[in-house]
Amino acid sequence: MNKHDSEKIAGILQNNGFQYESNTLDTDIIIFNTCTVRKSADDRLFGQLGNIKRLKEEKPNLIVAVGGCLAQNYGKELLLRFPHVDIVFGTHNIERFPYFLKERISTFNRVFELKDEDLYDISCLPALRKTTFSAWVSIMRGCNNFCTYCIVPFVRGRQLSRQSDEIINEVKNLVSDGVKEITLLGQNVNSYGKGVKQELNFPKLLKRLSQISGLKRIRFLTSHPKDLDSETIKTVAESEILCNHFHLPLQSGSNKVLKDMSRKYTKEKYLKLIIEIYYMIPDASITTDIMVGFPTETEEDFLETLDVVEKVKFDNAFTFIYSPRLKTEAIKFNDISSHKEKMNRFNRLVDKQTIISQMKNNNLIGKSFNVLIEDFSKKDRNMLTGRTKTNKIVNFIGDSNLIGKIVDLDIISARAHYLEGKIRD
Ligand code: SAH
Ligand code: SF4
Repeated sequence: MNKHDSEKIAGILQNNGFQYESNTLDTDIIIFNTCTVRKSADDRLFGQLGNIKRLKEEKPNLIVAVGGCLAQNYGKELLLRFPHVDIVFGTHNIERFPYFLKERISTFNRVFELKDEDLYDISCLPALRKTTFSAWVSIMRGCNNFCTYCIVPFVRGRQLSRQSDEIINEVKNLVSDGVKEITLLGQNVNSYGKGVKQELNFPKLLKRLSQISGLKRIRFLTSHPKDLDSETIKTVAESEILCNHFHLPLQSGSNKVLKDMSRKYTKEKYLKLIIEIYYMIPDASITTDIMVGFPTETEEDFLETLDVVEKVKFDNAFTFIYSPRLKTEAIKFNDISSHKEKMNRFNRLVDKQTIISQMKNNNLIGKSFNVLIEDFSKKDRNMLTGRTKTNKIVNFIGDSNLIGKIVDLDIISARAHYLEGKIRD
């Protein structure tokens, strides 16, 4: 979502005559579009602002702007702490960025503006995309769930679904511009349309989008286990275009911790959903987010998480250590484990998941997949990289004119986090 917002900021600026430049040494304006979901994201920004200070001393006309979730959270404090920051703006006023720039350039005043809610739907603004064949499409903004550890509802506001006809039109336009794959974005896509009169629900929206001629792949994230329903799973099962990949954050396998997190599902409900997905879509891939060290988590609770990891056999998991966030409910909870215990749980979880990811990928050796070729491989510039419908990364040797095309690849070897393939003869 944050990266998609960055594409929008770049798109709005391009429309106003500015040009994108990725090298910080050559730019006149540096914009940090920030995340604040964990403290590590805050620390990274503060470190980078420290580095930019020296650059600004050498180049006094450089304009430094900070936007996004961290800016929404810290507000004016950022201006006080970092005198070399020129503009601070939040998550609800992105469309006003060209105005902020004009203000800074014409008056030399530092600019600060935060809003509490979206007054304008930025979805209709142009996005500057890295690729011509793949695009993110935001279907909703904000979140109403208030999981007790999470800052997102405080910095992104209440859930707001876009009108389905706007989404459908946007996707049609993208496809006529050459886009083959779209990824629908929302903090909890399964609750799309809730609270909006006469709106489609999520599976119906998926059905309508999958009928758009020329569109080859539809992905979506994130699914919430409390809201993912049989109709959605069935819709994915029946469609060639809907990708057979679910990102379904577990967070914890302990019912006590899930309750304390206010996730509104149990370990049993989660496992039932997984059985339903595999029953309806036997080759589905399932990835997840897991957090260890929630304040009330005991060693026994953690063992429940490991139990779910073993039972489900996720294709991949994003793993985090709980990070206390101001404003959230969980910051008031008594934290019962030491940092050392949390690190120990985290390492055990990562070790277990790495073995499972490797094992699942080993099972794919000898199979062949349709792969949308995305770019040169970051690890080896002599190789190309792409993704299967199940969201597996496949690297292979091929000609750069394959980028943007869908190619049949045979899998010849497997690592925990990617596969190696070769073009099918
Ligand atoms: N809407 C998505 C998650 C968005 S945040 C969902 O409900 O699943 C992405 C992930 O960051 C979360 O799934 C969670 O695992 C992690 N996360 C969120 N807040 C966190 C915190 N305070 N500490 C550690 N990890 C956190
Ligand atoms: Fe955060 Fe929970 Fe909303 Fe996800 S569903 S963004 S974890 S509050």
